[in-house]
Amino acid sequence: MLYQNIINNYLSLMVLNECSYCKINPRSHSFHEVSHLQNQLGQRVFYSRPADAELYQDTVSILHHFECKLEGVSKWEWTFDCAGMGIEHYTQFGLVKELCLLLKRHGGLQQVNIINAGCFINFTVKFAKLIWPELPTIHIR
Ligand SMILES: [Zn+2]
Repeated sequence: MLYQNIINNYLSLMVLNECSYCKINPRSHSFHEVSHLQNQLGQRVFYSRPADAELYQDTVSILHHFECKLEGVSKWEWTFDCAGMGIEHYTQFGLVKELCLLLKRHGGLQQVNIINAGCFINFTVKFAKLIWPELPTIHIR
């Protein structure tokens, strides 16, 4: 019965696109839809600034967050803001790998815009392309 309640709670959070970690602490992760925006192709727009996320090293909870936010989303664009990122963010290779696999499986990501890029981002992108060779277009600004 207890487990059923936990499962029901988890499923209801998934339906509402609400991450159970961010429900407790809204600063847990940084990946959210910019609700007033659609790009010129009518695709939904999401934004991340990993330096603002307190659980930036917790791969399991980050994957949960992405699954929640992308539930029911078809085509979307991602603005990835590197402002404030340090070496501790750029070296999360396990996370990059698992996130690439999740996003590849989801299939809706059309374009990535990387802004405020530091010198390490090219290495991270090259690593991501090893995992996901057909990675959508990336613009680094
Ligand atoms: Zn979250």
